[in-house]
Amino acid sequence: MNKVERLSVREALTISLRGAISMNNLHCPQCGLSHIKRNGYTHYGKQNHRCKDCDRQFVEDFQHIGEEVKDLIKVLLLERLSLRGICRVTRV
Ligand SMILES: [Zn+2]
Repeated sequence: MNKVERLSVREALTISLRGAISMNNLHCPQCGLSHIKRNGYTHYGKQNHRCKDCDRQFVEDFQHIGEEVKDLIKVLLLERLSLRGICRVTRV
């Protein structure tokens, strides 16, 4: 019961975080600026982007969850906070 609950919390968090990231402004994984231009699609059909400042190319679902968010979620999962509680704290 407890195990199942924790798994579903983790799953839901992953989904909410992905949603939050794709809805936010994109930031360059290299220089952190958001001067992003669409740059066609990758071989896998994903939207490709290019940074206007440093010419770095990247795709939208690049795993760019901030370290502090990752740590926070780890702590929250250890604390067995309710999903609702985690959502409140991380605003996802
Ligand atoms: Zn850049």
